[in-house]
Amino acid sequence: MAVESFNPFRMAQQQFDVVAERLGLDTATRQLLREPEREIHFSIPIRMDDGGTAVFRGFRVQHNTARGPSKGGIRFHPHETIDTVRALAMWMTWKTAVVDLPLGGGKGGVICDPHNLSMREQEALCRGWIRKVAECIGPEQDVPAPDVMTTAQHMLWMLDEYERITGRKAPGFITGKPVSMGGSLGRTEATGYGVIYILREAVREAGGSLAGVSASVQGFGNVAQHAIELLTSYGGKVTAVACWDQREQRAFTYRKREGIDLPALRSITNSYGEIDRSRADELGLDVLDGDDWLKQDVDVLIPAALENQIHAENVRSINPRVRFIVEGANGPTTPEADEYLRETGVQLIPDFLANAGGVTCSYFEQVQSNMNYYWTRDEVLSKLDTKMTEAYYAVSELAQKRSIPMREAATMIAVSRVAEACKLRGWV
Ligand code: GLU
Repeated sequence: MAVESFNPFRMAQQQFDVVAERLGLDTATRQLLREPEREIHFSIPIRMDDGGTAVFRGFRVQHNTARGPSKGGIRFHPHETIDTVRALAMWMTWKTAVVDLPLGGGKGGVICDPHNLSMREQEALCRGWIRKVAECIGPEQDVPAPDVMTTAQHMLWMLDEYERITGRKAPGFITGKPVSMGGSLGRTEATGYGVIYILREAVREAGGSLAGVSASVQGFGNVAQHAIELLTSYGGKVTAVACWDQREQRAFTYRKREGIDLPALRSITNSYGEIDRSRADELGLDVLDGDDWLKQDVDVLIPAALENQIHAENVRSINPRVRFIVEGANGPTTPEADEYLRETGVQLIPDFLANAGGVTCSYFEQVQSNMNYYWTRDEVLSKLDTKMTEAYYAVSELAQKRSIPMREAATMIAVSRVAEACKLRGWV
């Protein structure tokens, strides 16, 4: 599992440096893009249900705003670190740029475990987070969204607090809201569906189709569940799902060679995407070790949990039959694992391209909220498909032309767009 010394920000900078060198960026542009434009660190004191007060540490990092307001989610996680948030903010800058949205990149976080917080305490945390950052965020500055362990309800509490502070309605301030309260149809499924639109094109380029494709998935949260939903509707099958077990504090892989039944698996899963292991038998699932999802005899691996999941210590255990890795999570593969995979011929589609469906749909949500006019689900998903497909082919073409991995090609496209914006603004 996770390597102790792993630092996602160092990893993000390493990935950037390779591309900065390739693009021949000048020193000032490199300095500007290697670090966040701004970061805010703060404490949020919360009155707990037992009458005591607990203090939580929160962050917001705005990596770059040259192409538009910074955009990115807020994570609630007990192991959150500022370097994780910095890395994720940088990846958001590349993500919005690679799909060519008029937005920059940001990310937020709180060190907390929502499993141990009541709904009232979570509401207080959301409102406290907004009070600490209200002056530096807003529809024209920085637009938050959900991420790991944050939901539409959290977004709505945050919106409400922001509107209280500013004294006006600002539905475009945050995305991932409930559909009945200014959210966009299609937003919940957008990230997972986007992963599969991208996979569909990769498989098509290789001369195949998704019908009959088999996959093993890490994670069973929002991204994973919707990726599985769309993949199975295209005729593919998922034979293994790895998932965190809160009670045991470790992960397990659930396997069914004939293909996992998504509604059945959902029925034994809680709102954090954690499968109830004691009921795996009922569904005829084999329960294996947490890393065993990598060893499955499948065409595709979809890491859709957290960062640092495919690394130097486990990358060699990937089944030789695997042909595609589509990163639903942010930062799941370390540079060492990337280097190894490069030699094996597995096609890896990088996170900030593969999972850009979420932020793309968030952008659609912002547009709809700002116009106060809402589109149908079909309209949203077909616009999403077009955007993702275009981005895929732009990256794939460059990767083939230069004989470089897709991560490098995608980063080149994104970084050059952001560098160009910084130059045009006269920043560097
Ligand atoms: N948290 C998601 C991501 O990592 C979505 C961000 C957004 O919608 O702004 O891409």
